[in-house]
Amino acid sequence: MASTKTLVSQIRGGVEWNGDQGKLCCPFHDDKNPSCSVNVKDNVFNCFGCSEKGTIWQLLDRAGITYQRDSDNGNTPYDYVDAVGVLRYQSVRTPKPGGKDFFLRQPNGSGWFNKMTGVSPLLFNLPAVVKAIAKDETVVFCEGEKDVLQLKKIGFVGTTSHGGVNNWKPKLAEFLAGARIVLCGDQDVPGLKYIEKVGRSLQGTAKDIRILQLPYEIAEDHGKDLTDYIQEFGVKSFKALKAAPWEPVELPEPKAKPTLASKDTEEPTCQREKHLALFEKAEGMQTIAITEYAPIAWTVQDILSPGYCTISAGSKLWKTASRIWLGVNFC
Ligand SMILES: [Zn+2]
Repeated sequence: MASTKTLVSQIRGGVEWNGDQGKLCCPFHDDKNPSCSVNVKDNVFNCFGCSEKGTIWQLLDRAGITYQRDSDNGNTPYDYVDAVGVLRYQSVRTPKPGGKDFFLRQPNGSGWFNKMTGVSPLLFNLPAVVKAIAKDETVVFCEGEKDVLQLKKIGFVGTTSHGGVNNWKPKLAEFLAGARIVLCGDQDVPGLKYIEKVGRSLQGTAKDIRILQLPYEIAEDHGKDLTDYIQEFGVKSFKALKAAPWEPVELPEPKAKPTLASKDTEEPTCQREKHLALFEKAEGMQTIAITEYAPIAWTVQDILSPGYCTISAGSKLWKTASRIWLGVNFC
């Protein structure tokens, strides 16, 4: 297998290498003096002549250098075609330290633009989705192109949106008007949130929405997906799973900040009571740690000492309210 350095070296005009860095004539513009710099350690390029920049693979694609995509660089391109099968763009999954990333590129006749201009987002596997809806067959909305391709292998029509869990566009719901949908995300928190978002935007648009919960524990991140399930338990077992009717659910949100609003308590009038009330309602209080730095000589036994006293806690956790409370009560 060719290294990226070997591949880049094949670009017309050659490359002047200095370790992992190289200079070459830019394939994105008519370059006579090498104005494109490349770094094969980070796998990026940057042209000072035409301002084009991107990944090594975009550079190779543009230069017409062929390479074994999946094995050489870990990149996996997925075609996004319109309802009649015309290639509109590709979503390319590319590895990055600790995970994966995506970039989009648009065909320009001979190669790719690593930009998206005048292209609307599409659903993956759209022609099959359109046919399935016309035949009143189920479409499985899953998380990622890999799962869609896996579903295809076992005779299901699947679809997804490009770019991972944070990239659902409500506009995409239009493609699923009248569809029978089974939602099946990865069994982790981001996956559940994604599926919930999709379900909500399909409400009133899709004919029927169901959810398929794979029998795995929900992970914080990187949970199991339907491909994992099929690999572990087989196609027959997957086909035997039952999807339940989907309803919107409240997903856990980050802990709310303490609030003061409360209708069923009387509004305290005097300043002291007001501060006491503030104190009692502050849910964040239990996380406050009080650290003393001096031997304790109590001004008020077990409450207030004349020495140094530090109240430390994160922001909005009632440090100031605590000081006021101490002041109002004991000074
Ligand atoms: Zn250039």
